[in-house]
Amino acid sequence: MDIQVNAQEKINSFMAGLKRRNPGETEFQQAVQEVVTHIIPFIEDKPLYQEMQILERLCEPDRVVIFRVCWEDDKGRIRTQRGYRVQHNNSIGPYKGGLRFHHSVNQSILKFLAFEQTFKNSLTGLPMGGAKGGSDFNPKDKSDNEVMRFCQSFMTELTRHIGQNKDVPAGDIGVGAREIGYLFGQHKRLSNEFTGILTGKGMEYGGSPIRVEATGYGAVYMMEEMLKLRNQQLEGKTCLISGSGNVAQYATEKCIQLGAKVVTMSDSSGFMHDPDGIDQEKLEYIVDLKTNRRGRISDFAKEYGVEFYPDKRPWGIPCDLAFPCATQNELNAEQATTLVKNGCMGVSEGANMPTDLEGIRIFQQANTLFAPSKAANAGGVAVSGLEMSQNSARITWKEEELQNLLQGIMQDIHESCVEYGRESKDRINYLKGANIAGFTKVANAMLAYGVV
Ligand code: NDP
Repeated sequence: MDIQVNAQEKINSFMAGLKRRNPGETEFQQAVQEVVTHIIPFIEDKPLYQEMQILERLCEPDRVVIFRVCWEDDKGRIRTQRGYRVQHNNSIGPYKGGLRFHHSVNQSILKFLAFEQTFKNSLTGLPMGGAKGGSDFNPKDKSDNEVMRFCQSFMTELTRHIGQNKDVPAGDIGVGAREIGYLFGQHKRLSNEFTGILTGKGMEYGGSPIRVEATGYGAVYMMEEMLKLRNQQLEGKTCLISGSGNVAQYATEKCIQLGAKVVTMSDSSGFMHDPDGIDQEKLEYIVDLKTNRRGRISDFAKEYGVEFYPDKRPWGIPCDLAFPCATQNELNAEQATTLVKNGCMGVSEGANMPTDLEGIRIFQQANTLFAPSKAANAGGVAVSGLEMSQNSARITWKEEELQNLLQGIMQDIHESCVEYGRESKDRINYLKGANIAGFTKVANAMLAYGVV
């Protein structure tokens, strides 16, 4: 039988089984589909991976912990939330991955994120397994005291599942410096130990220079590397960025530093378009607005007299480059088609899985440079890995040293994608490259362990 037809049949049958075992988990199914499309053809001539059922085992998390989180709000009412930790795979190092606090959090979203994290962490070249966790708690409309009480209750249960050699969580949507502080404080109280059980910590208590900047900066470095292959550079390019949280803020900063013009940012209520470009002063306003004042991006539009588009995403604005940095499935086929029509030459995913499967297909057909999240946003977890090393050695490295390490890691990730993803002289499938490079290291470790 034709090898391609055979592989497609295997993909269909694999996905049918996965959907049967994980009903209704659409985000998890989507993330797996994105990976097996490349891995099944890759292992066609590698019988050992097949005999040892490596792919089947990789698509089943090691464990999913679900727990109740009770806390008291400022009015004295008892609230009940659901907490999760998905420990996906620890074949190459302790579980590692962020915590998300957002009303949309459910098992499917965390399983997709933990699955992706396993490949991403492998790509960094550092010894980290994959995990993700969080809760359907929404910190946005809560007081500091409410957030503290929730974090303390959440950590009271989570504490028994984590450890510096076991599982090291970090931040994600809704979990920033404030939440990490409360979580770390509660763990320290319960365990009577000061160990690096979380990353993204404040500099006063074991944090690492440039961890806050790393994900956004890394996504821009990835774009820079892709552009170099086409004899292009960031300088002078018009960029669309979605989101206005941690990743979006520092992607914007790095674009500004490299001479590009960022004309949009967004949040869950819409996007603003600033045709003159966001400069460092405007960015500082946004960082303060979103991080300290917990305001809306529409406040920026009002302050600077630029257009705000309620409930819309920025992808209709003409641009050279796009950085989706808000959330999953925020860029669909129709929006991808518009981007391509408007001349967008590159997309680097700061958020996790922001482009849906059809959107990716559109970019690939148009030979748009497309860096998938597992490669493009790996800079954050890479510096988290370096934070773990610093904590173990009880030292703090210099900012410059970490900047160089981050840039080097992003260049290595780019090289791995090119190595496994080159389809012709001028066509690199970065998604295929990232999937195969990420898979190989984890799969080989799993082979070494036998059936466990
Ligand atoms: P933040 O909470 O700091 O910011 C999230 C941003 O996205 C906010 O502007 C938020 O708007 C917006 N957003 C969230 N949900 C939606 C939605 N459903 N529709 C539209 N906008 C939305 O999170 P981060 O910046 O840390 O994370 C952003 C993305 O990057 C996520 O996909 C995350 O998994 C990924 N990521 C983050 C890493 C990190 O180091 N922080 C590492 C790797 C990946 P609003 O303010 O209205 O909520």
